[in-house]
Amino acid sequence: MFEYAPAPESRAIVDIKPSYGLFIDGEFVDGTGKAFKTVNPATEEVLAEVAEASDADVDAAVKAARRAYTRVWSRMSGSERAKYLYRIARIIQERGRELAVLESIDNGKPIKESRDVDIPVVAAHFFYYAGWADKLKYSGFGETPLGVAGQVIPWNFPLLMLAWKIAPALACGNTVVLKPAETTPLTALLFAEICQQADLPPGVVNIVTGAGDTGRAIVSHPDVDKVAFTGSTDVGKAIARAVAGTNKKVTLELGGKAANIVFDDAPLDQAVEGIVNGIFFNQGHVCCAGSRLLVQESVADEVMERLKRRMATLRVGDPLDKNTDVGAINSAEQLAKIRELSDIGEAEGAERWSAPCDLPANGYWFAPTVFTGVSQAHRIAREEIFGPVLSVLTFRTPSEAIEKANNTPFGLSAGVWTDKGSRILSMANRLRAGVVWANTFNKFDPTSPFGGYKESGYGREGGRHGLEGYLKGEDS
Ligand code: NAD
Repeated sequence: MFEYAPAPESRAIVDIKPSYGLFIDGEFVDGTGKAFKTVNPATEEVLAEVAEASDADVDAAVKAARRAYTRVWSRMSGSERAKYLYRIARIIQERGRELAVLESIDNGKPIKESRDVDIPVVAAHFFYYAGWADKLKYSGFGETPLGVAGQVIPWNFPLLMLAWKIAPALACGNTVVLKPAETTPLTALLFAEICQQADLPPGVVNIVTGAGDTGRAIVSHPDVDKVAFTGSTDVGKAIARAVAGTNKKVTLELGGKAANIVFDDAPLDQAVEGIVNGIFFNQGHVCCAGSRLLVQESVADEVMERLKRRMATLRVGDPLDKNTDVGAINSAEQLAKIRELSDIGEAEGAERWSAPCDLPANGYWFAPTVFTGVSQAHRIAREEIFGPVLSVLTFRTPSEAIEKANNTPFGLSAGVWTDKGSRILSMANRLRAGVVWANTFNKFDPTSPFGGYKESGYGREGGRHGLEGYLKGEDS
């Protein structure tokens, strides 16, 4: 492999303030609680101090959302709401480079991903739901909004998860209080500025920053009508318990342990690209990552050889370098979790191989890693690692592949690689996964519903289905 010269994207386009308040009722206000720091995971540089919203702050945000809901947003016609959503979508496109650079700095993901995937899909999501705002009567879910939505999101796709939450909620006439994850608050705060720039009526979108306690305050607030959560299965279960017995409507998008299944008739070079994209895209911090490779025994050796050769060419390093394939792990805590599970994999007898690469001295890094000789009982085959770590299992027949693929408490996504269309259809029917990709992986489109079976959660985001979680239903 030849060397690439550094090709850093300039960070001059972003203006990170030393400290940030909360966005409540259309204004940035000081929080009444403490503050926390957000760091660049690629360098450990402190980027800014961010307010940690207290119960009182959350209450103020919910009150602002309620006022905006009753007085303005729920009374506005769908076509008027659509104008705001279109305006937000266009501003996101116009400020796309700024958003992409800020996302890469705060999250650690490679600029080529934030620039070419996250931000364009965010804009597409707002465009898509802007289109629904005046057509709700054709949705099949009624036209009546729920009220105030409390939304809590994770750190792996900070702005994209915000878009998945806010765009359908607003299109349906709800107002929102959203909390970004504590390690990645900055693009949500820039989004708040975009709401101001778009002249969105005050209180329609409120952004409160903080950690688990702030999330708990949103979820348990009595005047929140709808809870939308994306994050870990453990926290999802706690939220389900917290809202049980209330009238709150809930959608949960939780963890995954997807099987990426390669048959012996698959085009192997393309399959190897799909395996790499499936587990090393976004450092493997992807709920629907193809973290379990199931490869047909007759081609297993060949696939592994090609995969290792391909992995050795992945460039790991500075997220702002346009040639970087794999960026930084999002936090010290996440890095410790990836290390722990990988060590357990080795201790349980699986064979570990990591791509040879020089990791930067500062920041949080983990080399792309693959485990072979993995059995279904191993923890690395069962638990979500949420990092650039692939577990490889083999199978002989389609039925064995299905049995192994479905042998998981999760059910978010799966991939099938084969030359036969009939096999794709039969596998897709039998896989207990919300999304099944065929001869591709990790493709996202706002028109397509996304969501899980079993412990991967309930409710769907995206597409017409994504409206259901924000409307009262046909007969109300
Ligand atoms: P996490 O559950 O630790 O945190 C998610 C969010 O919940 C954060 O904003 C956090 O501050 C908040 N939170 C923590 N405790 C809370 C509580 N008790 N009440 C309310 N809010 C609380 O998850 P994470 O580590 O940030 O994200 C990784 C997880 O997210 C993975 O399991 C991944 O699979 C999942 N995920 C799922 C999807 C999906 O669409 N299914 C998408 C992305 C990520």
